[in-house]
Amino acid sequence: MSEEKTILDHAEMQLKVGLEVHQQLATSTKLFCACPPFVGDESKEISDKTTSFRRILRPAASELGEIDEAAEFESRHIIRVKYIASKTASCLVEADEEPPHPISKEALETALLFSLALKSRIADEIHVMRKIVVDGSNTSGFQRTAVISLGGELLYNDAKVAVQTIGLEEDAGRAVRDDNQHNGERTYALDRLGTPLVEVALAPIQGSPQDVESAARTLGRLMRATGRVARGLGTIRQDLNISVMNGKVIEVKGVQRLDQIRKVVLFEASRQKFFFDLAKEIRERIGGMLEIQSQEVTSLFLNSNSNVIKKALSTGESCVVCLTIKGFAGFIGRENGFHSRLGKELGAIAKTYGLGGVFHSDELPNYGITHEEVSLLRSKHGITIDDAFVLIAGSRQSTTKAADALKKRLQHATIGVPAETRAASLEGETTFLRPRPGAARMYPETDIPLIQVSPDTLTMLRAKIPEPWEKQVNSFSNKYDLPPQLGEPLFDSERKDLFERVIENTKLPPRYVASFLVDSFLALSRNGVRVDLIADEILLGLFEALSAGKFAKEALSEILKQISLDQNLTLEEALAKAGLGLIKDDELVKIVDEIIEQNIELAMAKGPSAHSILMGKVMQKVRGKVDGRLVNETLTKRLAAALKGKS
Ligand SMILES: [Zn+2]
Repeated sequence: MSEEKTILDHAEMQLKVGLEVHQQLATSTKLFCACPPFVGDESKEISDKTTSFRRILRPAASELGEIDEAAEFESRHIIRVKYIASKTASCLVEADEEPPHPISKEALETALLFSLALKSRIADEIHVMRKIVVDGSNTSGFQRTAVISLGGELLYNDAKVAVQTIGLEEDAGRAVRDDNQHNGERTYALDRLGTPLVEVALAPIQGSPQDVESAARTLGRLMRATGRVARGLGTIRQDLNISVMNGKVIEVKGVQRLDQIRKVVLFEASRQKFFFDLAKEIRERIGGMLEIQSQEVTSLFLNSNSNVIKKALSTGESCVVCLTIKGFAGFIGRENGFHSRLGKELGAIAKTYGLGGVFHSDELPNYGITHEEVSLLRSKHGITIDDAFVLIAGSRQSTTKAADALKKRLQHATIGVPAETRAASLEGETTFLRPRPGAARMYPETDIPLIQVSPDTLTMLRAKIPEPWEKQVNSFSNKYDLPPQLGEPLFDSERKDLFERVIENTKLPPRYVASFLVDSFLALSRNGVRVDLIADEILLGLFEALSAGKFAKEALSEILKQISLDQNLTLEEALAKAGLGLIKDDELVKIVDEIIEQNIELAMAKGPSAHSILMGKVMQKVRGKVDGRLVNETLTKRLAAALKGKS
């Protein structure tokens, strides 16, 4: 990212970011049944450990009371859902064929502990509610959720932000496949469904993207300090509610990593500001209402060489539709430094209707659409050079609905950005997901009696409020004699427990292991090695093998590279793939002797101080294949012997 792109005047933009953190808890059961969370049998779709069942959802906007754009969006079509359930770790509660069991005491106590730590006011009576969910991720069509406490504050750096609510809720099913666009069937795994989540919602932060990241980091540390939360990718999910210039609030979902927050806020604030500025320019040129015409232009494209159009027209009743926007030339293709542009927004919307995307006048001729086709389209349909047009192709039904949605989005271009829910990528970009839902419709869960928290429970929990992060990290670093630059990131990382197990089970020095888990892991992931995918158990096994001298320290990174590609590899296979067959002792002696022989004059001239030069030469040959310590020992001995022989 270039320097200018990272600078953002958040005050001038009136940037506001509400942070909502969803943290999975490390409980032994799910929130409303005795099944264990995170078994993962369901990850393989066809397996003798799983079973599946199907449901059909007909989300009608009318069933949801007041008109909700998100519900309306989901009611575009009937949704068929396939659920995959573990035979041993899933019960009738997840399948919604049995009422929920009483709430997990463990989970409730953890949520209460967070509330106490954040000085949030605990509700006198806790009511479990049903929140309607329209995407099929819950077998029941709703999510159970309870407000545990209201208010409170989070202190971070030298600032503070108010806590709005702290809730306890069940996680949704895990999306395995979204075939929504192809045959209308979505697949969810039930391993995650019902896992307890604590949701902490903070008041909007008016600060820089870094401030938002700091608040999230502090909150994450506080939750982890209780020792009661799940660790690993996907166990913490942040939603960001971002707005600029007092405009509509954009909800960005699925931010899983801390370093993503800053990027998402920067991207999204810049995107929103860009569309505000664009809107101003559009109003100045054309006014506040666009003149948009929609017409079918299929006949012009029957022999088109565009693959997208060919594919769209190859199936049954399909057509090409052209939206013409009067006087709009140049606005669809305009982009900011992050490549945000109206054309991209329109394309993402079209895709949610199963279309391949859009073509627009600012980018044509291109993508197989010729100059002749564009000219003919313009002359036949009276589209002047000052006008813009957008082409979509697909089934008659999809193009009709998509055209309506695109017109709506185009009209919004005269105002700014519409309220939407967007998904975040790891790089921090956001993409349209669906219109923003209205206030969630909730009603009481009558299968669960209201919960009263006894003063004794609160007294007991008050004694368990964790020490501040700074204190904990200090005692951790002291225990293992780690400098802060290793102790702090390791304490925060998901590999902290692994580190402690490695130290307990091996003879490796703590500082070496810590440095590997922090610095080498960072270097590896920057080089595209997905170390984050490697399970703790596998890493523990590798450190044990290293400690037992089964391979050299230098080989560890290379072995991890291989294992990150295939976690089923044995150590021997990984070594072989990395080209690191081990060198036996007698082979090493032979190599060392050869090098001494080749450099004997230097050795005689310099004596034992030739050691380091020779060491470098030997290591060039054997790096990764034998432990450096052993090379050092062997060289010292053989060099002494050689010099003695010559003197
Ligand atoms: Zn269950």
